[in-house]
Amino acid sequence: MSLNAEIICVGTELLLGDVVDTNSVTISRGLTQLGINLFHRETVGDNHDRLVRVLKSAIERCDIVITSGGLGATCDDITKEAVAEVMGVELELHEESLERIKDFFSRRNITMTDNNVKQAFLPKGAVVFPNDYGTAPVTALTKGGKTVIMLPGPPRELCPMFEEKIMPYLKENFSSSTIISDSLMLYGIGESAVEEKLCDLMRDYTNPTLAPYAKIGEVQLRITASGKDEEECRRLIKPLKEKVFERVGEYIYGVNVDSLERALNLDLREKGLTVSFAESCTGGLCAKRVIDIPGASKVIGTSVVTYSRESKMKLLQIDKNIIDTYGVISKECAFHMAKGLMALSGADISVSVTGVAGPDTDEGKDVGTVFVGVASKNGVRVKEFNFARGRREREYIRALAANAAINEARLEAKDF
Ligand code: AMP
Ligand code: MG
Repeated sequence: MSLNAEIICVGTELLLGDVVDTNSVTISRGLTQLGINLFHRETVGDNHDRLVRVLKSAIERCDIVITSGGLGATCDDITKEAVAEVMGVELELHEESLERIKDFFSRRNITMTDNNVKQAFLPKGAVVFPNDYGTAPVTALTKGGKTVIMLPGPPRELCPMFEEKIMPYLKENFSSSTIISDSLMLYGIGESAVEEKLCDLMRDYTNPTLAPYAKIGEVQLRITASGKDEEECRRLIKPLKEKVFERVGEYIYGVNVDSLERALNLDLREKGLTVSFAESCTGGLCAKRVIDIPGASKVIGTSVVTYSRESKMKLLQIDKNIIDTYGVISKECAFHMAKGLMALSGADISVSVTGVAGPDTDEGKDVGTVFVGVASKNGVRVKEFNFARGRREREYIRALAANAAINEARLEAKDF
């Protein structure tokens, strides 16, 4: 018998739209991995009566309830009180947690206020997981065949505590099957085209399943199998994965690789290469995304934001004539930007981006026109893209332009 879980996020700020509920996503993904069914997800404000009502119905219809938030030291943090009431248990002082909280403050040289003691009052009989990332202990309370797990709201506490403590706890106590997913990342094809090529597989397969997710300029395909162990899951996934590769393999840039920059990073490292960027409309996005991955110093060389005409001429040695003749939004400019960057950075692969991110057209070129130049020992080449999606989508166009530039760097690295 498989178990059902429910997530309850507590916090008025979530209902007001002030804070995006990312905790539900973290928890949902973990439950999926463990093969625990998630049938409901709710958000409720910091209101005792409403929280009690939501908790009661959750406990009635499922086996595991996981709450997020409302474990703070202030009086609007009421999750523990509500859970204790609904489960019919007392809150009692947990000495060990109190010591940890005192220690947490003294190590940081902060005076502990009286209300912090409140965080050490925990449901009687609960399993306590000391919080290594904050002061609110995480608890799992089981009574009458129902389990309520309470996690703190801040994602920097919830994410590691959920992954390091609660996932293993759930796996040991509640998980009967193993779920394994392979994520195939596609670039250069839209979601509807992917669906058209794969719709029979998506419809006919039940274990494993095949599901597409549209990302910014990319498509993720997830193949998910459920089995008694990892080996069985892998065996189920293999034939479907092969079919998917047969049909859309040319667009797949990575398996279980989360982004284009990650794929680029892997390729560069494998070959001991470096990349550098000269960015106009992306304003440093490409370099940022490459540097987001730890250890980037091994793969990135001198990169520059050359947004103005002057910076293009000064840093990349582009002849004024070229800009006067062709403009900065041009194949020629992208060509010379990449070439000039090669001399400036000495990186193995130099990539330039210039384009119109909008909202206004520039040099008579449409919003969304983007040129990406690549210079390497193989020569210099330029590709033109059009990412026009309406005049207001500056951020979107810039993100798509960065995708294209990072992808071109990746293709060049493959050719080395
Ligand atoms: P709390 O534990 O309720 O005091 O929450 C502390 C902080 O965590 C809130 O102010 C939010 O910024 C953040 N937070 C709470 N719930 C969530 C959630 N579901 N997703 C992301 N952040 C959250
Ligand atoms: Mg709160």
